[in-house]
Amino acid sequence: EPVYLNGQFLPLAAAGVSPLDRGFLYGDGVYEVIPVYSRQPFRIDEHLARLQATLAGIRLANPLTVDAWKSVIFRLIADAPWDDQSIYLQVTRGADDKRDHAFPPASVTPTAFAFAGPLVTPSAAVRAAGVAAITVADQRWARCDLKVISLLANVLARQQAVEQGCAEALLIRDGFMKEGAASNIFVVKDGRLLAPPKTQLMLPGITYDVIVDLAQVHGQPLEIREIAETELRAADEVWMTSSTKEVLAITTLDGAPVGNGKPGPLGERMWQWYQDFKNTVMRK
Ligand code: PLP
Repeated sequence: EPVYLNGQFLPLAAAGVSPLDRGFLYGDGVYEVIPVYSRQPFRIDEHLARLQATLAGIRLANPLTVDAWKSVIFRLIADAPWDDQSIYLQVTRGADDKRDHAFPPASVTPTAFAFAGPLVTPSAAVRAAGVAAITVADQRWARCDLKVISLLANVLARQQAVEQGCAEALLIRDGFMKEGAASNIFVVKDGRLLAPPKTQLMLPGITYDVIVDLAQVHGQPLEIREIAETELRAADEVWMTSSTKEVLAITTLDGAPVGNGKPGPLGERMWQWYQDFKNTVMRK
C-alpha cells in the first residue's frame, strides 16, 4: 500500500527524505495518530485541529489545508488492506543545506508524511487481566501539550517499563501524576472519576476528551484536578487511555495491586460506553 510524502503517493521503499531534514537532525516536527474503524476515521476533525494547534505552537505553517489532509487520509484508508487502521501523520520543518538550529529560510518547505498501519486494540484477554505499569520521573520538557516528534523522554520511560515487564510508565512531576508515556491516565476513588487538567504539562488526548464527555453524558461524577502520587497509589482503579489502547485498566503499579488487582467496574463500563459511542458515530 502506498504512503504519502510531499504531495505524492508512492511505495514505502520509494519514499525518501533528506538526511538534512530537520526532523532527523533536531526532532523539529509534529505528528498525529488517527484511529480508523471499519474504514472510517474516528474524531478526524479533532485530530486535525490538534495537529494545527501543535504546528502553531512550534511556529510552523500547516503545509496542507484540512480538506487536503482529509483527502490524503481517505486515500490511504482506501488503499490499505485493513478495515481497522491507524493513520500516522508527520510534518517537519524540512531540509536545509546548512545546519543551524534557527529556522531555515522561507524557501525551505516542510516535509509532510503520512501512512496507514493496522490498528490493534487490546484483546479481550488483555482487557480482562489489565496491564502492569511503573511510575517514573517525568523528564520531558515544559510543553508536553504539543504533540511533537522529539520523544526521547517518552522513549526512555516506555523502555524502562518494557524492561520491567510493564505496558506503560506513569510520569510523575513535582509529586503529581501527569499522564503516561503514550497515554492519558484516569483514576477512580470511592466512585469518583479523577482526571488531571489540561495544562502545558500534559498532552490533550482526543480519547481523554471523549471519556470526559461520556462521564458527563452518563452522569458519572468526574473531578478534573491534579492527582497526587499518593492518591494514585491509593486508587480503586487506574486506566490508561489513547487512540490505540482505548480504555485499558492498569491493575499493577510498581509491583503492587491497584485496588483488588482486577479491572474495576467503572473502567469496564467506560470501555463499553466508548464502544457504544464509536459504533454510533461510525454508523456501522
Ligand atoms: N499522552 C501522550 C504522551 C501520548 O503520546 C498520547 C498518544 O498516544 C496520549 C496521551 C493519548 O492521546 P490520544 O487519546 O489523542 O491518542
